[in-house]
Amino acid sequence: MYFTLDRVMSDPANLFGLILSRAPTVASAPLLEAGSRTYAWRDMDEASARYARVLTDGGLRKGDRVAVQVEKSPQSLFLYLACLRAGLIYLPMNTAYRGEEVDHLVGNAEPAAVVCAPEAETTRDIAVRHGAALVLTMDADGGGDLAEAATASRPEFPPLEVSPDDVAAILYTSGTTGRPKGAMLSHRNLTANGEALRRSWGFTADDVLLHALPLFHAHGLFVACHCVLLAGARMLWLPAFDRRRVIESLGRATVFMGVPTYYTRLLADPDLTHERCAGVRLFVSGSAPLLPETFEAFRRRTGHAILERYGMTETGMNTSNPLRGERRAGTVGPPLPGVSVRVTDETGAVLADGAVGMLEVRGDNVFSGYWRMPERTALDVTADGWFITGDLAVIEDGGYVRLVGRARDLIITGGYNVYPKEVETVIDAIDGVVESAVIGLPHPDFGEAVTAVVHRLADRDTPDEPSVIAHVRARLADYKVPKRVVFVPELPRNAMGKVQKTQLRADCEGLYPA
Ligand code: AMP
Repeated sequence: MYFTLDRVMSDPANLFGLILSRAPTVASAPLLEAGSRTYAWRDMDEASARYARVLTDGGLRKGDRVAVQVEKSPQSLFLYLACLRAGLIYLPMNTAYRGEEVDHLVGNAEPAAVVCAPEAETTRDIAVRHGAALVLTMDADGGGDLAEAATASRPEFPPLEVSPDDVAAILYTSGTTGRPKGAMLSHRNLTANGEALRRSWGFTADDVLLHALPLFHAHGLFVACHCVLLAGARMLWLPAFDRRRVIESLGRATVFMGVPTYYTRLLADPDLTHERCAGVRLFVSGSAPLLPETFEAFRRRTGHAILERYGMTETGMNTSNPLRGERRAGTVGPPLPGVSVRVTDETGAVLADGAVGMLEVRGDNVFSGYWRMPERTALDVTADGWFITGDLAVIEDGGYVRLVGRARDLIITGGYNVYPKEVETVIDAIDGVVESAVIGLPHPDFGEAVTAVVHRLADRDTPDEPSVIAHVRARLADYKVPKRVVFVPELPRNAMGKVQKTQLRADCEGLYPA
């Protein structure tokens, strides 16, 4: 049975209720086209209802966590929606995470259910060890235990009553300590941000979003999907970014969202032409800095000015260049409606526009804190609700924000964040290594490339570059693995004994030629 508006209106605080209220009145209207298969809004409604039933019949109750490490599929999106619907907390895990990383997340979040790929023995063992009540599988085509159990469930499930501050999702984000922290996002946070983006970017039911982003990160899961779901629109669904398939699909899309690496890869293909992009009304970029050269090259090639926006896991989107008006290359635009920004100095004093300092943001989009880390939350959020982003910025005329650096040691490679400390800890444990420093160096494809500078024991020629890389690859997600390893007799330090990463970056200049 298709959803009814009465059911929806009874619980407006549940983001899923709001999504249902925006669904096309015709239940067979397409929501998602994945290869040769099209899923209607009704299919989404029924699948998410069935999944919600399987989870709650399995004993899960409001506030329980559902940790999910599966390949991107329409069903994985329906599973996220099922969690919203049932008041459960969705916890996506990067598919690249290895045993230790999964173990930390599952141990920390204590999910009542874990959904993983059928072949993911390690994840399954970890789930059982940490006491998950339900361990279910979902393969890349959406099949597995969950799908099987769902066929026997009724395709109805009224969205559970939640309060706006109930947590809807926890997304883990790495910290300078090297241990990921769980950012708690409430229904209010997700709804406020989704609505701000839908309105600011002019989404309507006529839009067709080409979705090529991963689903375990805020960009692909929230930014892209919420714009579509809150506008009653639809999407063309790719399992992953694939330059050829994106170019072939652009002709049927009205909006495309990507990280800068997607844009440089698209530009490397001569088939990216003005004609192919003619039907697209909006190209959005974020998660890492879009170089002004990329912005210009894309405009020359396609006639489109990429709209760059800025956000983070803890806050959703904060600023965006405008849909109408000047899209200023090298800036991330003014704050979105409902979001305030300010720049402060080291003492926390607010600086005048034009001065460089720490960017702070406030609004309903700002998260509810780090899971089970109140002290950490108190360090990053001021008493009056300003989140200290860790990004250095300047506010220019017209309120446009320009990011000028990062106070933290973060590397962003192909849109993924890597905290050097985590990789350094793994390398430092290798026999024969005295210490290491991990830095990001400019890379023509990834934006920045993870690079390890290693001080080995004197007179040793082991470990060598391949063995350091293999050691890290066995323990951390692929995107965290150094692309190159450089050996030095010792690491440069300043008077305070702090490793001089700026000098290392200068010494390693040109390691990744264009
Ligand atoms: P994440 O939590 O993975 O979304 O990463 C958030 C970080 O990505 C921010 O704190 C910024 O440092 C960076 N970031 C996001 N969008 C942009 C952008 N448009 N330009 C530069 N950096 C960005």
